[in-house]
Amino acid sequence: MRCHQEVVVALRIHNTLTGMTDELVPGGVKKERIEDYPHVTIYSCGPTVYSYAHIGNFRTFLFNDFLRRYLKFRGFMVDHAMNITDVDDKTIAGAENEGISLKEYTERYTDIFFEDLKTLNIEIVEFIPRATESIDAMVDIIKKLDEKGLIYEKDGSIYFSISRWDGYGRLSRLDSREIKSGLRYDTDEYEKDDVRDFALWKSAKEGEVCWDTPYGKGRPGWHIECSAMIRNIFGTTIDIHTGGVDLIFPHHENEIAQSEAAYGELFVRHWIHAEHLLVDGTKMSKSKGNFYTLRDLLAKGFSPRSIRYLLLSAHYRKQLNFTFEGIGQADQALARIDNFIVRLKDVKGDGPRCAELPGLMEKFIADFIEGVDDDLNISRGLGVLFEFLHEMNSLINEDRLSRDDAGALLETLAKIDSVLGVIFFPAADDAVDAERIESLIAERIAAKKAKNFQRADEIRTILLEEDIILEDTKDGTRWKRKN
Ligand SMILES: [Zn+2]
Repeated sequence: MRCHQEVVVALRIHNTLTGMTDELVPGGVKKERIEDYPHVTIYSCGPTVYSYAHIGNFRTFLFNDFLRRYLKFRGFMVDHAMNITDVDDKTIAGAENEGISLKEYTERYTDIFFEDLKTLNIEIVEFIPRATESIDAMVDIIKKLDEKGLIYEKDGSIYFSISRWDGYGRLSRLDSREIKSGLRYDTDEYEKDDVRDFALWKSAKEGEVCWDTPYGKGRPGWHIECSAMIRNIFGTTIDIHTGGVDLIFPHHENEIAQSEAAYGELFVRHWIHAEHLLVDGTKMSKSKGNFYTLRDLLAKGFSPRSIRYLLLSAHYRKQLNFTFEGIGQADQALARIDNFIVRLKDVKGDGPRCAELPGLMEKFIADFIEGVDDDLNISRGLGVLFEFLHEMNSLINEDRLSRDDAGALLETLAKIDSVLGVIFFPAADDAVDAERIESLIAERIAAKKAKNFQRADEIRTILLEEDIILEDTKDGTRWKRKN
C-alpha cells in the first residue's frame, strides 16, 4: 500500500551549487525513510527593514513558505531561520532622516513586515535573528579569518581578501576575469585593495550607530550577518539556504567564502534560488510606476488570498510576470475551489460511502507528491488538484457521495492546503485563526462519531470562550463570531 509518509524519499530540488537537480538529503547521509532524517536546517535571507517590502520580495518569501510547508507535508521536521537586517546604509539613513533611533526605525518596519507576512498567510519560522543581536558571532568569524591571514584593514574597515582564498566563485560560476574586470563586484563606497574584495566590518562614520570591537568601532558588512547568524543558530553545515537569484552574487558567494574560510567545512548543502518577479513584463521600478507593495495592491481592492495564489502558482525557477489580469485569473481559480467546497458542504446523502473514493483520494495525494517532488513543481501540483476537483464534481453530479464522503474530502483538501495555504484562507478581518477553528470542528465531528461526547462538548466550550459559536445544521457544522 502506498502511504505518503512511507514512500522512499524522491524529493529532488535544483541546487545552484552543483547546477543539478539533487535529492534533498538532510544531514548529508541518505536514509531509507523520511522519519529517519534529522531536522532539515534552512536559512532564508530576510528583509532589510528600511521600508515596505514589495511584491517581488514577497514572491521569494512565499516561495520560502511553500518550501517549508511542503517539507513538513512530506514528513520532514524543519528548523527554519530567517534574519532581519536591521543595520545597513539604508536603515541608518532612514533613521537619520526622521531623527529617530535606528532601533525605533527598524522596529516599525519589522512590525509592518510581520503584519504583511500574516496577511499573506505565511508561517512564522522557528528562528528570527536580528543582525544587531549577532555582533559577537560576526566578530568570531572575523577573528578566525584574521588567524588565517585572509583579511586586511583599510581606512578603519576590514576586508576579506578574495585572492588569498581558493574556491571563490563556485556558486555563481562567474569567470574570474568577469569578476576582476569590475563588471560584477560588490558595490560599496569604500576603498579596497582589489575591486572584488568585500567589507566584513565597516568603520564608523561620524555620529553613526556603531559597536566597539577588537576590529575597531564600526558596524557589520551585510554579507557577514548571514554567515554569523547561521553559525549562531545551527553551529555547522546547514541543509538549505534560500534567497532570490539576485543574491547569488555577490551576497551568497561572499557568505560561502567567509564561512568556509573561517570554519573549514561545507557551509550549505543545497542552495535554492527563486527567480525574479516582473511586473507588466518589465523589472519593477518606481520611475515606471509599476512598483507595488502588498499594501498598494490591497488598497486597489485585490485580496491577499489571490495575491498569494498568483505569486505561488508559477514554478520558482521561472520568471513570473505579475499583471492585474493575472490576479483576475487567480480569482477564477480560487472561485472554482470555493464552489467545489460549497457543493461539498451541501452534500446531504446518508447513503453508503462511495467505494471508489478512498482510492481516488489516495491517488490524488500520490500524484500531487509525484508532481511537486520534481523540483517543487507547483504548477503540476495545482494541475493535479484541479483535475481531482473536476473528477469529484462529477461524483457529486451523479449523486454518488455521502455526507461522510464529503467530510473525508474536506480532510484531504485540508492536507493539501497545509502546503498551499489558499483553500481555507483566514479572513482578512479575522484575528482568530480560521484554520485552527476548522480543525477543532473536524476533531469535534470525529469525537461525536466516536461517541466521545465529553470531548465534543469541551471543544464547543473552548470555542465559545473565544466568542465562536458553532451551529450544527443538517448540512454540517458552521461557525460564526458572536456579535
Ligand atoms: Zn543573506
